[in-house]
Amino acid sequence: MADRSEGGNMTGSYVIEQMISAKAIAARIEALARDIESRFADTDKLVVVGLLRGSFVFIADLVRELDLPVEVDFLEASSYGNAMESSREVRILKDLRGEIAGRDVLVVEDIVDTGHTLHHVTGLLRSRAPARLETIALLDKPTRREVEVRATWTGFEIPDAFVVGYGIDYAQRNRNLPYIGSVRLEGDT
Ligand code: 5GP
Repeated sequence: MADRSEGGNMTGSYVIEQMISAKAIAARIEALARDIESRFADTDKLVVVGLLRGSFVFIADLVRELDLPVEVDFLEASSYGNAMESSREVRILKDLRGEIAGRDVLVVEDIVDTGHTLHHVTGLLRSRAPARLETIALLDKPTRREVEVRATWTGFEIPDAFVVGYGIDYAQRNRNLPYIGSVRLEGDT
């Protein structure tokens, strides 16, 4: 697998440099799944809530590693749009299909960046009185944090870089890369 790929969209041309390999992601998910299984060992059913759209590959791999009774639901919060900068305002664009009152819930996020999204979403879901609510983020950029929030489980801590791949996009492209890569705009040094 090439560790560099070229991309181009309306934002101009860019190069993607591999940061975390598909193999490293798979190994980390296996380890995280064991932790989640022990935390929820006594659950009658775990509602795994994927935050659309960036978590769709992660949640697909994660639930297949979980040896627990699971239900899968999705919630969509407003994202970056086509920009590379985060927004402080979080809106719910698509709510859950199911009820979570009295249920065990695991929220699956792709990246915790400023923290606004996870903070807002967990606040909303906690107001619905789940029995237990835990969170998992594939990636965490701790240096970018604006609100104090931390996922119960984190796949990888990464530096402040704009990343794509493994479900995560740049202007709706590159979600299908099997690895996580960082975007470097052509012309940047
Ligand atoms: P936060 O609210 O924590 O600032 O942002 C969380 C959301 O911003 C993530 O779920 C993700 O959709 C988006 N985001 C944060 N960092 C990146 C990044 O490096 N690349 C992309 N494509 N999206 C990001």
